[in-house]
Amino acid sequence: MSLFGPVMYFTLGFIIAFLFPRLPIILITRGRGFNTAFPEHPEPIPLSPKLTQRVLHMRMIYWMGFVVATIPLMFGLASIKWGNTAFGFGLWLSSGWFMLSRLQTFVGGPDPPWTLETAQRLQIVMDKTKADSRCCNYPKPEWRILTISCSNCGKLLDELPRPDLGRKRMDGVFAGGFRLLLTDGHPTIIEDDESSYFQDSEE
Ligand SMILES: [Zn+2]
Repeated sequence: MSLFGPVMYFTLGFIIAFLFPRLPIILITRGRGFNTAFPEHPEPIPLSPKLTQRVLHMRMIYWMGFVVATIPLMFGLASIKWGNTAFGFGLWLSSGWFMLSRLQTFVGGPDPPWTLETAQRLQIVMDKTKADSRCCNYPKPEWRILTISCSNCGKLLDELPRPDLGRKRMDGVFAGGFRLLLTDGHPTIIEDDESSYFQDSEE
């Protein structure tokens, strides 16, 4: 009996169920029309209610992936029962794994890249620029790769690394999409180190 066929089917199922729940984050919001309010990736983004709203949208799409993952999970179970067992097991294992890893958040695991807290911190920084204790006379807070800083006076306002924000990525659909698959949208601090160094050196 050859193992080659079942292994192929298992791998295929695994890959399909791996990609499927991650597609919403990669596809939704990448269009040009979605991003007219923001400078192009990877430029810093000025803080605005639109940006806060984008963070909340990304958070919603992230959790949508969880719902989407139930589809390959169900197909996997059906396939194990009535169809190709290896293929079904690949689907089932991969989407089950995905859902478990997302659920970790609720038992002290790592936070998603976009949380309510992220949105609140953006709002707090914006509020502070209107208060008496603001950094300079014309505060222009912007979200850089590693921090939120004022583009006018250069003061660091919050040490909040920037996650992916749904903009069309400068590294293109495929490389950008692949990077998103690897990072899940989390800030890519190590890889972007050089460019953040650039930005900081401008100050
Ligand atoms: Zn300032």
